[in-house]
Amino acid sequence: MDECIFCNIKKIAEQGILYEDKQCYVALNQYPVRRGHLLVVSKRHYKDMTDAPSKLLSHMAPIIKRFTLEVNNIFKPKSIKVITNIGDEEEILHFHVHILPLYEERAADPHIKGYKMRKKISEGEKGELLKKFKKYEKNK
Ligand SMILES: [Zn+2]
Repeated sequence: MDECIFCNIKKIAEQGILYEDKQCYVALNQYPVRRGHLLVVSKRHYKDMTDAPSKLLSHMAPIIKRFTLEVNNIFKPKSIKVITNIGDEEEILHFHVHILPLYEERAADPHIKGYKMRKKISEGEKGELLKKFKKYEKNK
């Protein structure tokens, strides 16, 4: 895919590649949310994680771990989010994982409140959700 920015590794390389092998690369996010925001990107074009082969995910997991540790050691953030988006939140439809350091208290992400601030799941809802998952597993 020529028009896909993540398929264009030459262009990415100009902007800062930290690691590269046959299956994936790690790059500085060109539009970082915060300092040290990295992307781990598959070289082949898959639209998202659910589209990528499990073998590729197994290959990428230790690389994600390695660079998460590097971000932690270099930038000493308060916390780090390792995120991959599927669906609406995914702006570039090419499988990639964000390594996103947070330097402030949790409030840095206004969408996610601490669990103590959130409403606990009710027994009824818990039962309903467990049933849905069991039914899905049975029928797949
Ligand atoms: Zn692509």
